[in-house]
Amino acid sequence: MTNNNTKPLHLPRRSRDVDESEWTEQKRRIPAAWHTIAERKGYRIDRRVRDKDHVALECHSCGAHTAHKVFTLRSARPACGGCREAQMRGNAAKAGFILVARDEEDRHYATYRLPCGHEARLQLGRLQLLATEGPAPDHDGFHCETCHQERLQQTAAKWGWRVVGPDLDGSANYRQLAHEACGFDQRVAIANLETGRFGCGGCGESWMTAESWVYLMRFGVPGLGGFIKLGYSRNPQSRLRYQLRLRSDVEAELIDEVPMPSGHVALRLEKALHRQLKADHADKVIPRAELTGWINVTSEIYAAEAEPVIRRMLDAIERPRWPRRAEP
Ligand SMILES: [Zn+2]
Ligand SMILES: [Zn+2]
Ligand SMILES: [Zn+2]
Repeated sequence: MTNNNTKPLHLPRRSRDVDESEWTEQKRRIPAAWHTIAERKGYRIDRRVRDKDHVALECHSCGAHTAHKVFTLRSARPACGGCREAQMRGNAAKAGFILVARDEEDRHYATYRLPCGHEARLQLGRLQLLATEGPAPDHDGFHCETCHQERLQQTAAKWGWRVVGPDLDGSANYRQLAHEACGFDQRVAIANLETGRFGCGGCGESWMTAESWVYLMRFGVPGLGGFIKLGYSRNPQSRLRYQLRLRSDVEAELIDEVPMPSGHVALRLEKALHRQLKADHADKVIPRAELTGWINVTSEIYAAEAEPVIRRMLDAIERPRWPRRAEP
């Protein structure tokens, strides 16, 4: 029976370097004894392929076709390529990933698409473990390396620094950073990078003293409309597009900036404002996933209607410092 050979033919790993064109049907008789062996092992022999030594086996449980040597059929339990792939896809799905491709070089690895859209090459055993933990992002101990790098870069940019590479001493807890203001580079612990608690060994600027700003930005995403971003930055005027990794077709306008005595104060205040907004205006918080690919941020984005609310909050922060300013 050959009417099934439009199905893709799975190849055993060792044969994958053999060109696909070589797996053509061979019009040869199939001995009855082979049929008996195949049935016993859960297959039907669909046809002979490539040369006198190979057959295409149809799996009784999934219907997929896999090429095997007649020798393997006789002497071992031939593996079904379809069942194996289904199992891999199933494991990936349990972990919240999508199987993109098996690794042709190393059968212990495959490439997966992660929920964030990035791809990662992972060991099958690792994936198996993640699958038992349930769908991402609940796994602890696993993060997307690409997203992680972007987040570090963004955090560094907030403080006026840039990640230029891994730690020169090889520690996973440090990165090599360059100071935008003076160009000096030095290693910085990731924990300190998060809080901005580090000074520059080149120009002496310190996290305690460097001025920072809490800002409000309005931006428009084609097809999605307007949004508001509240954040802090060393240099919102010139660095903001870069910090937020805005796509070039996103329109952005800085609409308010409140000076802060230090990055530390700015960070604390920004966090407090987000907490307050989340508590009082949860309906105006936009899930970050909605804007994936347009803007890359780690803190909240708000609907355009939140603008007057946030402006009032910023005014209230600014006012006590200039008590004589007239009310509008
Ligand atoms: Zn199967
Ligand atoms: Zn990612
Ligand atoms: Zn410096």
